[in-house]
Parts: sequence; structure tokens; C-alpha cells
Amino acid sequence: MRAPVLAYIGLGANLGEPVAALQAALAALATVPQCTLRRQSALYGSAPIDSSGPDYVNAVAELSTTLSAPALLQALQQIELDAGRERPYRNAPRTLDLDVLLYGSATIHSATLIVPHPRMRERAFVLLPLAELLPDQVSPLDLAAVQDQGVWRMAG
Ligand code: AMP
Repeated sequence: MRAPVLAYIGLGANLGEPVAALQAALAALATVPQCTLRRQSALYGSAPIDSSGPDYVNAVAELSTTLSAPALLQALQQIELDAGRERPYRNAPRTLDLDVLLYGSATIHSATLIVPHPRMRERAFVLLPLAELLPDQVSPLDLAAVQDQGVWRMAG
């Protein structure tokens, strides 16, 4: 079995009950075989970027996993699908988005997976929760570059 890797997962939801969707996703992450949910950030609210609709709820989770990166992505996509089964109608927008932000120190460029996630440094809703878990990976310059984006830490 491969050595455990620390992976960082970005979670986002903006339809239905996004807080409940994120909490369910975190609970689902905790049950993925070969994964341990080690830590999770606070929940953050964010205004939609490049899209419309209700505000998003975002968080970042830290997993220790012996899954390969593609297998981890597959597990995340299954959780997204399971959340999608609760959609009120066919092809309704997704209630849940799960991204692999970091997989240890790996750099991956395959047809299905790019890690580190290509847009993570542009997004305050990723950088703020990630900075809670990995303060050394998010510089003040990174945060300054996204400070105008509407993102707030939710209570509780
Ligand atoms: P999205 O619509 O943002 O959920 O994008 C999903 C697609 O992005 C899937 O087809 C994945 O194969 C691809 N993808 C590439 N890199 C990543 C990543 N780091 N995390 C999640 N999905 C990724």
C-alpha cells in the first residue's frame, strides 16, 4: 500500500441548503475508504464568481489518504453524484462541487486531473479556508490579490 498523502479538498455549494450540503459532504468524505478526514476549515460564504444565483458556501478539508490522486478524484465525483441524486429535477444545477486542490506536493497534468488546482490561487473562497489549515502555503501577497472578492467567514 502506498504511503499516506495529505490531500486538500475544496468544497462548494450554492443551491438548496448549501450549509447542509457541505456538512453532508464532509461526513461523506470521512467515510471514503483509505481516507481519514483530519481537519476541516470553517465554513465561508462567497458571492458567485462568473455565475449568478445564491451565495456559495465553501470550505477546505484535509484528508490523509492512501488512494492515488485519480482514485481520490473518482471518490469525490461519486460524492458529487450522490448529492446530485437529491436534485429536484433532471439536469438541475449541481448542489455540490468538490475539487482536489493539493495532493501532497505532487504536480499532476493528466486529461482528467490538474493539481495543484489551476484556479485555486485566484479564489478567495479557496485561499481563506486553505490558509486556516496551511498558513505557510498562502502568502500575504496571495491574500492581497483576492481581497476585493466577497468572502466572509460564517459563524459557528
Ligand atoms: P468542475 O465542473 O469544476 O467540477 O470540473 C470537473 C472536471 O474538472 C472533471 O472532469 C475533472 O476531471 C476536472 N478536473 C481537473 N482537475 C481537477 C481537480 N484538481 N479537481 C477536480 N476536478 C478536476
